[in-house]
Amino acid sequence: MDSLLEGYQRFRRAVYPSHRETYRSLAAEGQSPRAMVIGCCDSRVDPGAIFDAGPGELFVLRNVANLVPPFATDGGHHGTSAAIEFAVGTLGVAHILVMGHTSCGGIRALMSGLGRAGGDGSHIETWMSIAVPALEKTLQAGHQAGTDACAAALEQAAIGHSLENLKGFPSVRAAVAEGRLRLHGAWFDIESGALHLRDDASGSFQPVAVPDE
Ligand SMILES: [Zn+2]
Repeated sequence: MDSLLEGYQRFRRAVYPSHRETYRSLAAEGQSPRAMVIGCCDSRVDPGAIFDAGPGELFVLRNVANLVPPFATDGGHHGTSAAIEFAVGTLGVAHILVMGHTSCGGIRALMSGLGRAGGDGSHIETWMSIAVPALEKTLQAGHQAGTDACAAALEQAAIGHSLENLKGFPSVRAAVAEGRLRLHGAWFDIESGALHLRDDASGSFQPVAVPDE
């Protein structure tokens, strides 16, 4: 806890003063972020850091393995779905980016059998089962479960699957059809710091160019 409070004290001394006016106007006028990022809880992939975003710029939702569940009206406590509906329906974000990453623990667990029949019924088990169709697609493509190549392919396939699930939300579908919203996929390489963007047509991921790097 000490390191958290020390971090807060650094924030108050060095960070907050440089954004004082931004915080004040955000407090007075509310937020109007242009983009929602759906990322993984993993401590190594902070969207605010990767996109160098200041206060008010990104509406961030992080969950295990950056998954979007299918649209459902079953009365359950759907936190991710609620955030999506709020971002699209109330904030009117123009972009939703689903961002996966290398060495994703949730994806590794799925590859090892979590989320498939005969599991322990834990929340993580139920949650990761969202991406079982992506696992099946990855194995059908010839990848061998347990390999690094399979993990990377599954991380990327799960992003594609989440984008498909996003299109199942009526508010998302309407906003996309009216040209008010665009959906994107990205995959972050923790070791190199490289961000790869998903090509909608092919489903492949290409590194984003960084001029003057
Ligand atoms: Zn992850």
